[in-house]
Amino acid sequence: MNNISRRLFFRSGAGLGVGAFLLGGFKSVRSQTGGSIPVIITDHGNETGKTAATTAFQILAKGGSALDAVEKGTNIIEVDPEDVSVGYGGLPNADGVVQLDSSIMDGKTYSAGAVACLENIKTPCSVARLVMEKTDHVLLVGQGALKFAKSFGFKEEDLMTDKSRRFWLRWRENLNKDDDWGPPDHLKKRDEKTAGLYDGIDHYTGTTNVLAVDSNGDIAGITSTSGLAWKIPGRVGDSPIIGAGLYVDNEVGAAGATGRGEDVIKSCASYFIVGQMRAGRSPQQACEDALQMIVDRYKKVNPNFFPGEKFVALNKNGEYGCSAMSGRDNPDMVVVNKSGMMIHKGSVLIK
Ligand code: ASP
Repeated sequence: MNNISRRLFFRSGAGLGVGAFLLGGFKSVRSQTGGSIPVIITDHGNETGKTAATTAFQILAKGGSALDAVEKGTNIIEVDPEDVSVGYGGLPNADGVVQLDSSIMDGKTYSAGAVACLENIKTPCSVARLVMEKTDHVLLVGQGALKFAKSFGFKEEDLMTDKSRRFWLRWRENLNKDDDWGPPDHLKKRDEKTAGLYDGIDHYTGTTNVLAVDSNGDIAGITSTSGLAWKIPGRVGDSPIIGAGLYVDNEVGAAGATGRGEDVIKSCASYFIVGQMRAGRSPQQACEDALQMIVDRYKKVNPNFFPGEKFVALNKNGEYGCSAMSGRDNPDMVVVNKSGMMIHKGSVLIK
């Protein structure tokens, strides 16, 4: 970044992997150039994300569509019981009910579909795809979305795992030291009354974005999440909102978001990122532009507030980028193209 008068700086992700470019100090990740297609990316840098992207890439390698590839990849992440941020095993709302949000967009046909507050279905992105392909609507919510899914043969299942229930029960016990949840007061150890809200919980938010360009140059993307843990029942985040949690433009590229959905909705972040790429910015620069835009807006309202988003983007040439607010998450993303699978370390926007 050249403008050293800016209050905030981007630096590369901690540790370097293949595809990372550390320029030194507080600097942006150098935009990667000369991408190739087909390509698939996901912000999920864990083992499941790697499996998802490499499995889905097989579809692309055989000449399959970006749309099929992103659905396949996302389904693998959605059914992972260990992942507490997406699909099955995702952390529930305040009532202990898992409500899922997901969207899909197909650049080739300029179509989109989404579901919000969907309960009891492990693979919400596949329901979103049916909304896109089998209706003239874009977004179905709650009971309507569930009824719609069941009409296509989806089976209702309990989405809570032992792990997610344990986290939720702990949250409920720690919600208020004056309520009656937890052991009887006379048996409570002192620290049980004051234990940290998220004590021991690795991830209490999270989302997956899966974006791909196929060998025809067509682009598709999905965003899928269980949303903010302990959210107010009925709350809808950015993930099922086209233009916020996801946007795809077949002439330009695709972008997806993770983080505090309220910020992403207000900033129409994914649409903004694609717009920046249309204007000539690289995917990496466009993700950073979006973070900076959000921070700049809050600066005028509350200079001490620092939001927590992570963006990923991919352009039509197969170039990719990723950037996160510090404190939010690591900026890793998985990339699979003809060169194989790599972890791209994006940049971090620090205070
Ligand atoms: N963006 C998601 C939401 O607001 C949550 C997350 O990505 O952490 O629902």
